[in-house]
Amino acid sequence: MAVLKARSVLVTGSNRGIGLELVRQLLEKSNRPERIFATCREPEGPRAQKLKDLAAKHKEVEIVQLDTAEPSSIKSAAARVSEQLKGTGLNLLINNAATLNLNTLDTETADGMAEVFKTNVIGPFVVGQAFLPLLRKASQESPQKGMSCSKAAIVNISSEGGSITNVLMWNMVQALSYRCSKAALNMLTKCQSLGYSDDKILCVALHPGWVQTDMGNAAAQAPLTVDQSVGAILNTFAHLSEKDNGTFVNWEGKAIPW
Ligand code: NDP
Repeated sequence: MAVLKARSVLVTGSNRGIGLELVRQLLEKSNRPERIFATCREPEGPRAQKLKDLAAKHKEVEIVQLDTAEPSSIKSAAARVSEQLKGTGLNLLINNAATLNLNTLDTETADGMAEVFKTNVIGPFVVGQAFLPLLRKASQESPQKGMSCSKAAIVNISSEGGSITNVLMWNMVQALSYRCSKAALNMLTKCQSLGYSDDKILCVALHPGWVQTDMGNAAAQAPLTVDQSVGAILNTFAHLSEKDNGTFVNWEGKAIPW
Protein backbone atom coordinates (compact mmCIF):
# COMPACT_ATOMS: atom_id res chain seq x y z
CA MET A 1 0.00 0.00 0.00
CA ALA A 2 1.33 3.46 -0.94
CA VAL A 3 2.06 5.80 1.95
CA LEU A 4 2.65 9.53 2.10
CA LYS A 5 6.20 10.16 3.30
CA ALA A 6 6.57 13.92 2.86
CA ARG A 7 9.11 15.33 5.32
CA SER A 8 7.68 18.84 5.03
CA VAL A 9 4.20 20.08 4.15
CA LEU A 10 2.69 23.56 3.92
CA VAL A 11 -1.06 24.19 4.09
CA THR A 12 -2.70 27.56 3.42
CA GLY A 13 -5.88 28.52 5.28
CA SER A 14 -5.17 25.97 8.01
CA ASN A 15 -6.97 27.63 10.94
CA ARG A 16 -10.36 26.06 10.23
CA GLY A 17 -12.30 23.73 7.92
CA ILE A 18 -10.45 21.38 5.60
CA GLY A 19 -7.08 23.09 6.17
CA LEU A 20 -7.17 22.59 9.94
CA GLU A 21 -8.27 18.98 9.52
CA LEU A 22 -5.42 18.34 7.06
CA VAL A 23 -2.95 19.47 9.73
CA ARG A 24 -4.73 17.43 12.41
CA GLN A 25 -4.82 14.20 10.40
CA LEU A 26 -1.25 14.59 9.11
CA LEU A 27 -0.16 14.65 12.76
CA GLU A 28 -1.98 11.37 13.42
CA LYS A 29 0.09 9.48 10.81
CA SER A 30 2.81 7.17 12.08
CA ASN A 31 5.02 8.51 9.27
CA ARG A 32 3.94 12.12 9.88
CA PRO A 33 5.94 14.98 8.37
CA GLU A 34 8.84 16.36 10.41
CA ARG A 35 7.69 19.90 9.61
CA ILE A 36 4.12 21.12 8.99
CA PHE A 37 3.87 24.79 8.09
CA ALA A 38 0.31 25.64 9.05
CA THR A 39 -0.39 29.03 7.56
CA CYS A 40 -3.27 31.39 8.20
CA ARG A 41 -3.91 35.07 7.71
CA GLU A 42 -4.33 36.04 11.38
CA PRO A 43 -2.30 33.78 13.69
CA GLU A 44 -3.00 36.08 16.62
CA GLY A 45 -6.74 36.38 15.97
CA PRO A 46 -9.51 34.40 17.68
CA ARG A 47 -10.11 32.27 14.59
CA ALA A 48 -6.63 30.73 14.95
CA GLN A 49 -7.21 29.40 18.49
CA LYS A 50 -7.82 25.75 17.47
CA LEU A 51 -4.69 25.78 15.35
CA LYS A 52 -2.69 27.31 18.19
CA ASP A 53 -3.94 24.60 20.57
CA LEU A 54 -2.80 21.96 18.08
CA ALA A 55 0.60 23.59 17.59
CA ALA A 56 1.11 23.79 21.37
CA LYS A 57 0.85 19.98 21.53
CA HIS A 58 2.94 19.15 18.46
CA LYS A 59 6.45 20.44 17.87
CA GLU A 60 6.17 19.55 14.17
CA VAL A 61 3.66 22.37 13.63
CA GLU A 62 4.92 25.84 12.84
CA ILE A 63 2.26 28.52 12.44
CA VAL A 64 3.16 31.02 9.73
CA GLN A 65 1.24 34.15 8.75
CA LEU A 66 0.16 34.01 5.11
CA ASP A 67 -2.67 35.97 3.51
CA THR A 68 -3.18 34.71 -0.04
CA ALA A 69 -4.59 38.10 -1.04
CA GLU A 70 -1.34 39.87 0.00
CA PRO A 71 1.74 39.10 -2.13
CA SER A 72 4.06 40.71 0.47
CA SER A 73 2.74 38.34 3.15
CA ILE A 74 3.35 35.37 0.82
CA LYS A 75 6.92 36.52 0.22
CA SER A 76 7.59 36.88 3.96
CA ALA A 77 6.09 33.44 4.61
CA ALA A 78 8.37 31.87 1.98
CA ALA A 79 11.42 33.51 3.58
CA ARG A 80 10.41 32.29 7.04
CA VAL A 81 9.76 28.72 5.84
CA SER A 82 13.05 28.66 3.94
CA GLU A 83 14.86 29.70 7.12
CA GLN A 84 13.08 27.02 9.14
CA LEU A 85 13.92 24.31 6.61
CA LYS A 86 17.62 25.09 7.01
CA GLY A 87 18.67 24.32 3.47
CA THR A 88 16.27 21.42 2.83
CA GLY A 89 13.30 21.58 0.47
CA LEU A 90 9.53 21.65 0.86
CA ASN A 91 7.87 18.44 -0.31
CA LEU A 92 4.18 19.25 -0.42
CA LEU A 93 2.47 22.60 -0.93
CA ILE A 94 -1.31 22.55 -0.43
CA ASN A 95 -3.08 25.66 -1.72
CA ASN A 96 -6.23 25.25 0.36
CA ALA A 97 -7.28 28.79 1.36
CA ALA A 98 -10.21 30.22 -0.56
CA THR A 99 -13.18 32.48 -0.23
CA LEU A 100 -16.76 32.11 -1.45
CA ASN A 101 -19.57 34.53 -2.03
CA LEU A 102 -22.96 33.37 -3.22
CA ASN A 103 -23.60 36.19 -5.69
CA THR A 104 -25.31 35.39 -8.97
CA LEU A 105 -24.83 36.50 -12.56
CA ASP A 106 -27.20 39.37 -11.71
CA THR A 107 -25.80 40.36 -8.32
CA GLU A 108 -22.01 39.84 -8.62
CA THR A 109 -19.97 43.04 -8.93
CA ALA A 110 -16.57 43.90 -10.37
CA ASP A 111 -15.19 44.40 -6.86
CA GLY A 112 -16.66 41.11 -5.65
CA MET A 113 -15.19 39.24 -8.60
CA ALA A 114 -11.77 40.87 -8.09
CA GLU A 115 -11.77 40.03 -4.37
CA VAL A 116 -12.50 36.35 -5.00
CA PHE A 117 -9.91 36.11 -7.80
CA LYS A 118 -7.29 37.76 -5.60
CA THR A 119 -7.65 35.10 -2.90
CA ASN A 120 -8.54 32.03 -4.97
CA VAL A 121 -6.43 32.42 -8.12
CA ILE A 122 -3.77 35.12 -7.83
CA GLY A 123 -2.95 33.90 -4.31
CA PRO A 124 -2.22 30.28 -5.29
CA PHE A 125 -0.29 31.55 -8.32
CA VAL A 126 1.96 33.79 -6.20
CA VAL A 127 2.31 31.09 -3.52
CA GLY A 128 3.41 28.62 -6.23
CA GLN A 129 6.02 31.07 -7.50
CA ALA A 130 7.28 31.97 -4.02
CA PHE A 131 7.74 28.37 -2.87
CA LEU A 132 9.07 27.04 -6.18
CA PRO A 133 12.74 27.19 -5.12
CA LEU A 134 11.94 25.08 -2.04
CA LEU A 135 9.89 22.59 -4.07
CA ARG A 136 12.73 22.31 -6.62
CA LYS A 137 15.16 21.68 -3.79
CA ALA A 138 12.94 18.91 -2.39
CA SER A 139 12.68 17.32 -5.81
CA GLN A 140 16.43 17.44 -6.37
CA GLU A 141 17.27 15.98 -2.98
CA SER A 142 14.76 13.12 -3.27
CA PRO A 143 16.13 9.71 -4.27
CA GLN A 144 12.70 8.73 -5.66
CA LYS A 145 12.14 8.37 -9.40
CA GLY A 146 9.09 9.98 -11.05
CA MET A 147 6.67 12.27 -9.24
CA SER A 148 4.79 12.05 -5.96
CA CYS A 149 3.40 14.09 -3.07
CA SER A 150 6.18 12.62 -0.91
CA LYS A 151 8.84 14.06 -3.25
CA ALA A 152 7.64 17.47 -4.52
CA ALA A 153 4.08 18.54 -5.30
CA ILE A 154 1.63 21.41 -5.55
CA VAL A 155 -1.96 20.44 -4.79
CA ASN A 156 -4.45 23.17 -5.57
CA ILE A 157 -7.71 22.57 -3.71
CA SER A 158 -10.26 23.33 -6.39
CA SER A 159 -13.97 22.59 -6.75
CA GLU A 160 -16.17 20.63 -9.10
CA GLY A 161 -18.21 23.83 -9.12
CA GLY A 162 -15.45 25.14 -11.39
CA SER A 163 -15.72 22.20 -13.80
CA ILE A 164 -16.98 23.62 -17.11
CA THR A 165 -18.34 20.16 -18.00
CA ASN A 166 -20.18 19.46 -14.73
CA VAL A 167 -20.96 22.94 -13.27
CA LEU A 168 -21.82 21.14 -10.03
CA MET A 169 -24.96 22.36 -8.19
CA TRP A 170 -25.75 25.25 -10.56
CA ASN A 171 -29.47 24.95 -9.77
CA MET A 172 -28.80 25.29 -6.06
CA VAL A 173 -26.23 28.07 -6.04
CA GLN A 174 -24.69 30.20 -8.78
CA ALA A 175 -21.71 31.56 -6.82
CA LEU A 176 -20.49 33.06 -10.07
CA SER A 177 -17.14 34.49 -8.98
CA TYR A 178 -16.25 31.34 -7.04
CA ARG A 179 -16.97 29.05 -10.03
CA CYS A 180 -14.96 31.26 -12.37
CA SER A 181 -12.09 31.42 -9.86
CA LYS A 182 -11.92 27.64 -9.56
CA ALA A 183 -12.03 27.21 -13.36
CA ALA A 184 -9.08 29.62 -13.52
CA LEU A 185 -7.31 27.74 -10.70
CA ASN A 186 -7.72 24.57 -12.76
CA MET A 187 -6.00 26.23 -15.72
CA LEU A 188 -3.26 27.48 -13.41
CA THR A 189 -2.76 23.88 -12.25
CA LYS A 190 -2.48 22.65 -15.83
CA CYS A 191 0.05 25.38 -16.65
CA GLN A 192 2.08 24.62 -13.52
CA SER A 193 2.10 20.92 -14.44
CA LEU A 194 3.54 21.74 -17.86
CA GLY A 195 5.96 24.37 -16.58
CA TYR A 196 7.36 22.31 -13.71
CA SER A 197 7.38 18.83 -15.26
CA ASP A 198 11.14 18.96 -15.93
CA ASP A 199 11.60 19.72 -12.23
CA LYS A 200 9.53 16.63 -11.43
CA ILE A 201 7.09 18.65 -9.36
CA LEU A 202 3.67 17.00 -9.44
CA CYS A 203 0.80 19.50 -9.92
CA VAL A 204 -2.79 18.45 -9.32
CA ALA A 205 -6.17 20.15 -8.84
CA LEU A 206 -8.29 18.36 -6.22
CA HIS A 207 -12.00 18.66 -5.40
CA PRO A 208 -12.48 17.79 -1.71
CA GLY A 209 -16.17 16.82 -2.04
CA TRP A 210 -19.10 18.76 -0.63
CA VAL A 211 -17.90 19.04 2.95
CA GLN A 212 -19.38 20.20 6.27
CA THR A 213 -17.37 23.38 6.82
CA ASP A 214 -18.34 27.05 7.06
CA MET A 215 -18.01 27.22 3.28
CA GLY A 216 -19.58 23.85 2.51
CA ASN A 217 -22.65 24.57 4.63
CA ALA A 218 -23.09 28.10 3.25
CA ALA A 219 -26.04 27.22 1.00
CA ALA A 220 -27.28 23.92 2.51
CA GLN A 221 -26.05 21.10 4.74
CA ALA A 222 -23.16 19.25 3.07
CA PRO A 223 -23.10 15.44 3.07
CA LEU A 224 -19.41 14.69 3.81
CA THR A 225 -17.83 15.26 7.21
CA VAL A 226 -14.46 17.03 7.28
CA ASP A 227 -13.00 13.89 8.80
CA GLN A 228 -14.23 11.73 5.88
CA SER A 229 -13.09 14.16 3.21
CA VAL A 230 -9.62 14.72 4.64
CA GLY A 231 -9.06 11.02 5.40
CA ALA A 232 -9.74 10.24 1.74
CA ILE A 233 -7.65 13.21 0.51
CA LEU A 234 -4.59 12.05 2.46
CA ASN A 235 -5.04 8.57 1.06
CA THR A 236 -5.23 10.07 -2.43
CA PHE A 237 -2.03 12.07 -1.80
CA ALA A 238 -0.27 8.79 -1.06
CA HIS A 239 -1.33 7.36 -4.41
CA LEU A 240 -0.86 10.33 -6.80
CA SER A 241 2.00 9.78 -9.25
CA GLU A 242 3.43 11.05 -12.53
CA LYS A 243 0.42 9.82 -14.49
CA ASP A 244 -1.75 12.23 -12.46
CA ASN A 245 0.35 15.30 -13.24
CA GLY A 246 -1.86 18.07 -14.63
CA THR A 247 -5.15 16.33 -13.81
CA PHE A 248 -8.26 17.21 -11.83
CA VAL A 249 -9.29 14.57 -9.28
CA ASN A 250 -11.79 14.28 -6.44
CA TRP A 251 -11.10 13.44 -2.79
CA GLU A 252 -11.02 9.74 -3.64
CA GLY A 253 -8.56 10.25 -6.50
CA LYS A 254 -11.17 9.76 -9.25
CA ALA A 255 -10.72 11.92 -12.36
CA ILE A 256 -13.12 14.85 -12.87
CA PRO A 257 -13.60 16.50 -16.27
CA TRP A 258 -12.29 20.07 -16.49
P1 NDP B 1 -13.70 27.35 5.06
O1 NDP B 1 -14.51 28.52 4.68
O2 NDP B 1 -14.13 26.50 6.17
O3 NDP B 1 -12.18 27.80 5.33
C1 NDP B 1 -11.55 28.64 4.43
C2 NDP B 1 -10.13 28.84 4.90
O4 NDP B 1 -9.48 29.71 3.97
C3 NDP B 1 -10.07 29.54 6.27
O5 NDP B 1 -8.96 29.05 6.97
C4 NDP B 1 -9.86 30.99 5.89
O6 NDP B 1 -9.21 31.76 6.88
C5 NDP B 1 -8.94 30.80 4.70
N1 NDP B 1 -8.84 32.00 3.90
C6 NDP B 1 -9.81 32.70 3.26
N2 NDP B 1 -9.28 33.77 2.67
C7 NDP B 1 -7.95 33.75 2.92
C8 NDP B 1 -6.86 34.57 2.59
N3 NDP B 1 -7.01 35.69 1.87
N4 NDP B 1 -5.62 34.23 3.01
C9 NDP B 1 -5.44 33.12 3.75
N5 NDP B 1 -6.42 32.31 4.12
C10 NDP B 1 -7.67 32.62 3.71
O7 NDP B 1 -13.57 26.50 3.72
P2 NDP B 1 -13.25 24.95 3.46
O8 NDP B 1 -12.37 24.43 4.49
O9 NDP B 1 -14.53 24.29 3.18
O10 NDP B 1 -12.49 25.07 2.06
C11 NDP B 1 -11.15 24.67 1.87
C12 NDP B 1 -10.92 24.52 0.38
O11 NDP B 1 -11.79 23.53 -0.17
C13 NDP B 1 -11.20 25.80 -0.41
O12 NDP B 1 -10.25 25.93 -1.45
C14 NDP B 1 -12.57 25.55 -1.01
O13 NDP B 1 -12.80 26.30 -2.17
C15 NDP B 1 -12.49 24.06 -1.28
N6 NDP B 1 -13.78 23.42 -1.42
C16 NDP B 1 -14.60 23.25 -0.34
C17 NDP B 1 -15.82 22.62 -0.49
C18 NDP B 1 -16.73 22.35 0.66
O14 NDP B 1 -17.80 21.76 0.44
N7 NDP B 1 -16.38 22.72 1.88
C19 NDP B 1 -16.28 22.14 -1.82
C20 NDP B 1 -15.34 22.37 -2.88
C21 NDP B 1 -14.14 22.98 -2.67
P3 NDP B 1 -9.99 32.84 7.82
O15 NDP B 1 -10.46 32.09 9.02
O16 NDP B 1 -8.94 33.85 8.13
O17 NDP B 1 -11.12 33.40 7.03
